[in-house]
Amino acid sequence: MNSSVAIVGGGIFGATAAFVLKQRGYSVTIFDRGPLPNPDAATTDVSKIVRMDYGADAFYSRMAGAALMGWERWNAQLDRPLYHQDGFLILASEEMAPGGFEFDSFQTISHMGYPLERLDGGKVGERYPWSGANYPDGYFNPRGGWAESGRVLENVLQDAIATGVEIRTGVTCSGLLFEDGVVRGITTEDGEEYPADSVVVAAGAWTPYLLPWMQDVLWVSGHPVLHFRPEDAEPFSADRFPPWAADIAGTGWYGFPALPDGSVKVANHGPGIRVDPRDPRRVPEGTEERFREFLAATLPALADAPLVEQRLCLYCDSIDGDFWIDKDPEHEGLVVASGGSGHAFKFAPLLGGLIADAVEGLSDRWAHRFLWREPTHRVKEAARYDDHAVNRRAEYGPSPTPPDPDR
Ligand SMILES: Cc1cc2nc3c(=O)[nH]c(=O)nc-3n(C[C@H](O)[C@H](O)[C@H](O)COP(=O)(O)OP(=O)(O)OC[C@H]3O[C@@H](n4cnc5c(N)ncnc54)[C@H](O)[C@@H]3O)c2cc1C
Repeated sequence: MNSSVAIVGGGIFGATAAFVLKQRGYSVTIFDRGPLPNPDAATTDVSKIVRMDYGADAFYSRMAGAALMGWERWNAQLDRPLYHQDGFLILASEEMAPGGFEFDSFQTISHMGYPLERLDGGKVGERYPWSGANYPDGYFNPRGGWAESGRVLENVLQDAIATGVEIRTGVTCSGLLFEDGVVRGITTEDGEEYPADSVVVAAGAWTPYLLPWMQDVLWVSGHPVLHFRPEDAEPFSADRFPPWAADIAGTGWYGFPALPDGSVKVANHGPGIRVDPRDPRRVPEGTEERFREFLAATLPALADAPLVEQRLCLYCDSIDGDFWIDKDPEHEGLVVASGGSGHAFKFAPLLGGLIADAVEGLSDRWAHRFLWREPTHRVKEAARYDDHAVNRRAEYGPSPTPPDPDR
């Protein structure tokens, strides 16, 4: 068997899928519109949180536990680790109670047998630079941390190339090539055709534009990420200031310890703003003020630190916050692998296998949450701050405009 697979998109979904499919004997080509890693891709950033903490949603906690073993395996193969197990600090704005994200995460993970350290009774303020008054409760999960996501992607791509995956950069896929009604390759903006036995579309935020029939279940939201550089970065080193989530399901705030350049990254896992991935990226006005207001109330030592970098990064949101990894039932020969919904990167060690199993029609332990589904109800990922998740589609208005091949 030497069946060929064309993968559209060389982010973490596409790159891991390419590597695993090549190992399974396929002839694999990745097509990406940018250079790789593409600076516009969601994956291409200095850091992503790796956490097991998913409220009462034990499925993701278990899957994250499996991914963490994968991260350890990957680290062991590298000269320098790219996953940093600095732990994950979960801050609660009131005493943890059933039904709250922090309490439910604590219970779920404890029941799985992982030791957690409860931080009630003023411990948050005593031990960390956080305002204890704002966070009277919480816990520290030593099993978690962050990964250097852009570097990880570079590594996966290098490994993919070393195993024989072909990479075509600067090639924008504009559509699918059909033969007798079956998808048999891709077409590009330059009018080229690339035949393949199967196609995987792993185009991140661009997916619902390339495949407009996905627009009822996938859409794009923009999320600002800001870096502040305090004069003294020492109090923000990982041992004193581990990766954190501050009442994340109620406010969205999360962030990272200081990077080697002394900058501290802060972001918000909230509803974001509706954007078109083909438009220039602009951080909305008032963003810096909103971030500083949060910092002044909760993390005074960072509130006046100069802003050194800001970026708008795009989620490909799915209707329910679960990823979308399955054969397209209406388009034989096509697999969609997208819908990261702002939390897929941590599962990088599992994604390639999941997508390869979808291509091969094999059962996969994790696949059932990511299968093709109808837009009947909507929920959200447990940590996501999004009061309007249920009505989000109505609020955002009609689906985005269909793809315009000239853009
Ligand atoms: C601000 C932000 C913070 C996040 N934080 C976390 C976190 O802390 N932890 C976590 O686990 N996850 C996090 N995520 C989510 C995670 O980064 C994404 O789920 C994941 O990286 C998505 O990968 P992808 O391969 O689907 O998409 P991308 O990385 O965006 O890659 C898609 C690729 O497809 C290419 N492409 C698109 N259209 C075409 C076309 N027509 N032709 C050819 N190529 C095309 C693009 O150039 C791009 O390279 C975050 C995401 C964002 C935006």
